[in-house]
Amino acid sequence: MSTTSEQLECLIIGSGPAGYTAAIYAARADMKPVVYAGMQPGGQLTITTDVENYPGYPDGITGPEMMENFRKQAERLGADVRYGMVTSVDFSGKPPYKVIVDENKEITAETVIISTGASAKWLGIPSETKLNGYGVSACAVCDGFFFRGKDVAIVGAGDTACEEATYLAKICNKVYMLVRRDEFRASKAMQHRVLNTKNIEVLFNTETDEILGENKVEGVRVLNNKTNEKKEYAIQGFFVAIGHQPNTEIFKPYIDMDETGYIKTIPGSSRTNIEGVFACGDAQDKIYRQAVTAAGSGCMAALDAERYLGAKHAPTE
Ligand code: NDP
Repeated sequence: MSTTSEQLECLIIGSGPAGYTAAIYAARADMKPVVYAGMQPGGQLTITTDVENYPGYPDGITGPEMMENFRKQAERLGADVRYGMVTSVDFSGKPPYKVIVDENKEITAETVIISTGASAKWLGIPSETKLNGYGVSACAVCDGFFFRGKDVAIVGAGDTACEEATYLAKICNKVYMLVRRDEFRASKAMQHRVLNTKNIEVLFNTETDEILGENKVEGVRVLNNKTNEKKEYAIQGFFVAIGHQPNTEIFKPYIDMDETGYIKTIPGSSRTNIEGVFACGDAQDKIYRQAVTAAGSGCMAALDAERYLGAKHAPTE
């Protein structure tokens, strides 16, 4: 452990659209933000291909390129973007808070913006990894467009899967929905929407045995876990919608979260239950999860942090 502790006005943890947007605003407000980029600098967008729904890019842009632009913009304005993982925090007591980076560097920060994002859950089969980005996706809203008029499959039975299946049904020719039990987990309203959509075929008691194809998705082999029968379907896209895991584990001892680990913010703000700690992006949003909404909430977090510091350091009469 290093003995000297660096003191920051504003620490931003995570480098997706939320973190970089917070950095842009915090830098312009002269808060000298330091961003720790985390395990996957640029976040979830770096594993998507083309982004066509982010305003301002009429011809679309690749996810990695867009995040590179976010980073450059934040750095040009004065943000200090560093490689490294925040491995623990101590939000007990009053700010400044002690934070440990890469298990050995200690820093203290007057404000902390949490933008650690979420990670899609995956099935964990080898063909899924092999074909990720080549027809396998965990985001129908991001990638559905590329399967216009094609046949696709989607795994999952929660609200996300139902929402994404109905979204895909509008674009694709046919959607097979692979549900591992004999019932949905989703709300009744979402189930009805799926069951009343003509080109969605729900396959209950069905697990993914293998996604087929060498360089791109060409089909899926499924297993009926009641009959043990295997069957193949020709598809060009395979979507996984079995939930997301917010990357919030290290904050659990201090920050109020829902039962699945999403950070609770005070409505209409990015404030958490801890003074001087703000949250934005997918770490606190399980509903929208879009780059543009994450970026918007990153802006909110920086503005909230700036106002917090302003009020704290305001001269008294
Ligand atoms: P959920 O955890 O609710 O559902 C995950 C689904 O994936 C379950 O049906 C589960 O099956 C299935 N699943 C998990 N692992 C596997 C696996 N290995 N193989 C096959 N299937 C698997 O996640 P969601 O992302 O759907 O929703 C998260 C939260 O967000 C929920 O609270 C939801 O209500 C909310 N939400 C609300 C929306 C809205 O209000 N518009 C939109 C989207 C989400 P099983 O049921 O068998 O466990």
